[in-house]
Amino acid sequence: MLVVMQALATEEQVRAVCQKIESLGYRAHSMPGAQRTAIGITGNQGEVEPGALEEMPGVQEVIRVTKAYKLVSRDTKPDNTIIKFPGSAVTIGGRDLAIIAGPCGIESRDQAFTIAERVARAGAQFFRGGAYKPRTSPYSFQGLGEEGLKIMAEIRDRFGLLIVTEAVDYESLALVDQYADVIQIGARNMQNFSLLKRAGRAHKPVLLKRGISATLEEFLMAAEYIMSEGNYNIVLCERGVRTFADHTRNTLDLSIVPAVQRLSHLPILVDPSHGTGKRNKVTPLSRAAVAVGADGLIVEVHNDPDRALSDGMQSLFPDQFDALMAQVRQIAAVLGRGVPASNHVRAEATSSAD
Ligand code: PEP
Ligand code: MN
Repeated sequence: MLVVMQALATEEQVRAVCQKIESLGYRAHSMPGAQRTAIGITGNQGEVEPGALEEMPGVQEVIRVTKAYKLVSRDTKPDNTIIKFPGSAVTIGGRDLAIIAGPCGIESRDQAFTIAERVARAGAQFFRGGAYKPRTSPYSFQGLGEEGLKIMAEIRDRFGLLIVTEAVDYESLALVDQYADVIQIGARNMQNFSLLKRAGRAHKPVLLKRGISATLEEFLMAAEYIMSEGNYNIVLCERGVRTFADHTRNTLDLSIVPAVQRLSHLPILVDPSHGTGKRNKVTPLSRAAVAVGADGLIVEVHNDPDRALSDGMQSLFPDQFDALMAQVRQIAAVLGRGVPASNHVRAEATSSAD
């Protein structure tokens, strides 16, 4: 059920409707938009009786939501969600593309700093790096844990990059929420419903990766789990799905970008690194992702990929990432979008402060 308020409804009227919904034992999610506010109702098992709400001052209409997902739907919020970061001009879902780059895993302070300096210089606004790695084999590198998070927090201070890193369980989620700027939920956890709900109670935005065999509806329902707990700052990410094709690690499904944009107000990024698994395909698919209208990219970059502890085969060399940025900057311009300029000033100002 969705309560659509009149364009001129006052804040008090919105509050009164939310209170009424809560008094009926449900949860109210107020979603202000450019034209009007809509209030989503969750927590109901069956249908909510619309009568009492329909008659309240400021209410335009009460509509039944027939789709399985409600809060992430454009029916609830017609305008795009733009994610903002306190004390920063960077956004996800705004005019500028969000560029997230860094190694698959944080291996050492030196490795992370070397890569961060290069991606900051190339114009990325976000640094990625796993401190908790969900690996196919229990014998593979599992990440540095909290020590990795501390290294990334230093990188934020030094280079002004916002930090994106994965949480794999309750314990790591609490720590990632504390140290990072964006909490990544990985493909393997897209249907870990208790983890999704925990992310819904976190303070930081969540980057939700598409599951390895998730349909569009399953993907949006996973985001709905997070949002139903009150975290409205969610970024979706296409990272490839499992198909019969074996020329790439996964099959990057770029058609999901316009499909998501039609149904949901949430921003969507593309990960061409996990999407292809092959270094030589990362730049072409990055160009395509920007052309198809993605709100940004998440790309693995490593200074010494042959010796990387994870995903070296799909990691770009820093020089290749520079070239990728120059190309996507031109493609973004065709769509009226921006890619931050190469940030020599920031990189040099910080390194001369040694
Ligand atoms: C990653 O970003 O390093 C990662 C493990 O991604 P995914 O969950 O998409 O496999
Ligand atoms: Mn990886």
